[in-house]
Amino acid sequence: MPSVLFTHSYFMKFDPKQWGLQQAYPPLGTLIAAALIREKGYEVFLHDVMFADSAKEISPLLEKHNPDYLVIYDDGFNYLTKMCLTNMREAAFSMIGIARQKGCKIIVSSSDASDHFAEYLEHGADYVIIGEAEETLLELINALAQKSDTQAAIHGLAYKKNNDLLLTPKRDIIKNLDSLPLPAWDLVDMDAYRTMWLKRYGNFTINIATTRGCPYHCNWCAKPIYGYAYHMRSPEKVVEELLLLKKNYGFDKVWFCDDIFGLQPDWVQKFNQEVARLGLKFSYIIQSRADLLCNESYVANLAASGCGTVWLGAESGSQKILDAMGKNIKVEQIYTAARLLKKYHIKASFFIQFGYIGENKEDIGQTIKMVNELLPEDIGISISYPLPGTTFYEQVKSDLHEKANWTDSNELTLMFKNTYSPAFYKKLHRYVHLTYRKNQGFATLKYLLLHPLKINYKLFRRVAGIAYYIPASMMAKRKMNKLKNE
Ligand code: SF4
Repeated sequence: MPSVLFTHSYFMKFDPKQWGLQQAYPPLGTLIAAALIREKGYEVFLHDVMFADSAKEISPLLEKHNPDYLVIYDDGFNYLTKMCLTNMREAAFSMIGIARQKGCKIIVSSSDASDHFAEYLEHGADYVIIGEAEETLLELINALAQKSDTQAAIHGLAYKKNNDLLLTPKRDIIKNLDSLPLPAWDLVDMDAYRTMWLKRYGNFTINIATTRGCPYHCNWCAKPIYGYAYHMRSPEKVVEELLLLKKNYGFDKVWFCDDIFGLQPDWVQKFNQEVARLGLKFSYIIQSRADLLCNESYVANLAASGCGTVWLGAESGSQKILDAMGKNIKVEQIYTAARLLKKYHIKASFFIQFGYIGENKEDIGQTIKMVNELLPEDIGISISYPLPGTTFYEQVKSDLHEKANWTDSNELTLMFKNTYSPAFYKKLHRYVHLTYRKNQGFATLKYLLLHPLKINYKLFRRVAGIAYYIPASMMAKRKMNKLKNE
């Protein structure tokens, strides 16, 4: 039977911010595809580049396994792969070049390749899969293994024939997610992930996907794979996977890597019942929207089933900017959601975005005010980043000739003309982080004065940090204001 070497192009060491955070998750999407291909009888290997130092590390594996096919299959559940970072694109191109010399057929599936398929083919890929990839990949490998020339009939492919670039019709997405096999975790070095987590955080957090897609229309959010579709696995299947993972790998926490976890309250209720029925005890982290989290019984079910942290796409404290983003959220809903989460002892963390089209100093001020009033558990600040296929990209694409992608997730360069300079937004990013940490330190100090017996190392560090954050935030503000006036 032909053999397939799977890899992906997210090299964590090429993304210094993420490497610093040390929160690595196995490439889930890659493992699901590998499981499907293996289930159909092919011999499957994996080269996981998460901890790799160089694209060249694929060479010995190509030598050793001599695969018929190299499949560079990014983990679409890792949101960093959706950012189309050029460090990862270059690494993918290098791996393609190396595999080309070894003579195997090369198939690529990723958000970046979906957007830039011509470039990937130009660099030597034989096929780029556009859209959801499992079924396309299986049909393609079957066709290649049988040496049949039926590629034109396989939906969701880009390839070259006689120097012509061909695109086959769009692939329908999979509606019954329960029909897919469980990820092939046995191919991954789970100990390497566990070691990283335990060393830094003292717990082992793993990733599980319960859904695919998101039906909302935020103007800057790229949806190259699922469009506006949203499909869920059944709560029973998810709990079955959790039990298996608990037994085999003994995790402590779960990161549900869905764009939106449990969009339907009924699903969360059923999930909670399943978790309780099987006596599963664990804590989990999700991403969600403020409007969903204004429903108290929904939040209560999240809490009862083990939800410990929600990352909320708050984005802005300015209604004008939320509306411009097409977020379909009211600022008041962010406040209500944050308070409701607190009531149920779920930590709220915020994604914040600066630099959206039309944002001025009042809008920035409202966002800073919101962060400082609600003092989320954590914040992730980004600078508006136009990705192909979005309304936002269309609005600014005339400015993107010189640069259209970041090198890594911490580049934070504003790539289009806006109210302030790119240097200002970088300084703003730093200033908001520093003031937030300072205010969080003061809030913790107040709490500890009232509850001195609750002190632990984490809370002590927050308070001690005040001594650094006060002067640092003042200095950052001065530099930021200087840039604002330039
Ligand atoms: S809710 Fe989140 S995932 Fe959905 S479109 Fe908006 S930003 Fe994207």
